[in-house]
Amino acid sequence: MAYQTKNPFDNSIVATFPECDAAALEARLAQAAACYEAWRTTGFAERSAVLARAAAILRERTDEFATLITLEMGKLIAQSRGEVALSAAILDYYAQHAERFLAPETLSVETGTAVVESAPIGVLFGVEPWNYPYYQIARFAAPNLMAGNVVMVKHASNVPQCALAFERLMQEAGAPAGAYTNLFISKDQVAQVIDDPRIRGVALTGSEAAGAVVAARAGHNLKKTTMELGGSDAFIVLKDADLERAVKSAVMGRMGNAGQACTASKRFIVVEALADRFLAQFQAAMAGFTPGDPMAKDTTLAPLSSEEALVNLLDQVERSVAHGARLVQGGARIDRPGAFMAPTILTDIDPANPAYKEEFFGPVALFFRVPDEEAAIALANDSPFGLGGSVFSTDIDRARRVASRIDTGMVFINRPASSSPDLPFGGIKNSGYGRELSGAGIQEFVNKKLIRVA
Ligand code: NAP
Repeated sequence: MAYQTKNPFDNSIVATFPECDAAALEARLAQAAACYEAWRTTGFAERSAVLARAAAILRERTDEFATLITLEMGKLIAQSRGEVALSAAILDYYAQHAERFLAPETLSVETGTAVVESAPIGVLFGVEPWNYPYYQIARFAAPNLMAGNVVMVKHASNVPQCALAFERLMQEAGAPAGAYTNLFISKDQVAQVIDDPRIRGVALTGSEAAGAVVAARAGHNLKKTTMELGGSDAFIVLKDADLERAVKSAVMGRMGNAGQACTASKRFIVVEALADRFLAQFQAAMAGFTPGDPMAKDTTLAPLSSEEALVNLLDQVERSVAHGARLVQGGARIDRPGAFMAPTILTDIDPANPAYKEEFFGPVALFFRVPDEEAAIALANDSPFGLGGSVFSTDIDRARRVASRIDTGMVFINRPASSSPDLPFGGIKNSGYGRELSGAGIQEFVNKKLIRVA
C-alpha cells in the first residue's frame, strides 16, 4: 500500500509519498549505523537536551502537530492535542529519568567487585501503528535514544505526514542525522531491514497478524523483540459499583479515539444486579454522539481512520449478528460522507460466536451479563488477549482482589485504561510481550553487562 494521506472525514486523497528505493534504504541504514557509533559515546546530558528540546517544540507548536493527526486518521482535534501533550511528556520523562534508570548496579560479592552496566545495543527498528501517530513512536524512540541506541521507524502507511513531522522534530531538536530515521518502506523491505546485521532489536505495535510476521522474522535472525499487540479488554462492573461513574467511564473507555485504542474497554461484563440499569444508561449515552468534522470543537463522533477500517468493522458486526448476537444499538454506517460508524452495542454473544474472542477496533461494545463476581473473572480471562482491563466497585480491597485475578498486563480500578509516561504499558498472551514506558520500558533494548574485577 502506498504511503498516502487520505482524509477519512471526506475520503479525499491529500498527498502521496514515494517508497524508499534500495539505494536510499541502504544509505539510511549506513547513516544510522554510523550515527550509533557516535551517539553511544554521548552522555545523558547531551541526549537529554535533544529530547527536552523536542518536547518544548511539541508544546510550542501543538496545533500544527495535532492538525496532522486529525487530517490523516480523523481523531477529534481536542484528542489530537492531548496526544501531542502526552508525547511531549514522554520525551521529558525519559530526558529527566533515564540516567537514574540506567545507573550502574553494584552487586554484593565476596571478593573484588561486580558491576552491571546498562550499555546500548545498536540500531533498533520499530514498526508502528496509525492510531496514536506520535505517542506510539515517542514511547519507542524516547527511552531508546536516551539509552544510547538509535532508531529507525516504519510508520503506518496512512500517516506519512505525521511520520515526517516526527522525524523533522527530532532533527530540529538537535538529534544528529541517523539518530531518528523515518522509513517509507514496503513489507518486503521491512523483512530486509530486520535481516540486516546492523539492526540489533525490533519493536512492533500493531495487530497480532503483523506481530507474528515481524517477530518470526526477527526470531529467525536471533534478534530481541517487543510486541505491543491487540486487546479485548474486559470492563467489569461489580454489584457494589457506583453505577453513574461506571457508565460514564464505559462511554469514555469505549469511545475515546473513536474506539480505536488497543486498551479501549471492549467487553462490558456486568453482574446481574446492575445489568439492566447499566445497559439502559450505556445505550442512552452511546446514542448521544454527534458526528461531524473532527477539526470542529463541537463534534463528538469522529470518523474511523479509513473507509477500509469502517467496511471491515461493519462486516465483523454483521458476522456477529449472523452468529446469534443481538444488536441493541447502532450497527451501521452513518449516512454522510466519510468513514463514520454509529456507536454500537451487541448483546447475547455466546462462546461459539467469533465475536466472543475477537477484537473490535472501533465504536462497538460487547455487553455480557453474568451472575456474580466469579463468573465475571472467568469470562474476563476467557480471551486470547491479555492487555488491560477495568474493575468497578466501591470496595477498593475487593476490586484489588479481582484485579489480581485478571490475566492481563494492566488493570485499572474505577476508571478506564489510560497511559502515562511513568506507568508500564504492555500485555501477555496474544497481546504481546515486553513493556514500554516507565523504568521498565528503557530496559528492553540494553545490554546488562557485567564487569567483574577479581
Ligand atoms: P497493523 O495492520 O498491524 O499495522 C501496524 C503496523 O504494522 C503498520 O506500520 C503496518 O504497516 C505494519 N504491518 C502490517 N502488516 C505487516 C507485515 N506483514 N509486515 C510488516 N509490517 C506490517 O495494525 P492496525 O490494524 O493498523 O492497528 C491496529 C492494531 O494495533 C490493533 O490490533 C490494536 O489493538 C493494535 N495496537 C496495539 C497497541 C499496544 O500498545 N498494545 C497500541 C496500538 C494499537 P502498513 O500501514 O504499511 O500496513
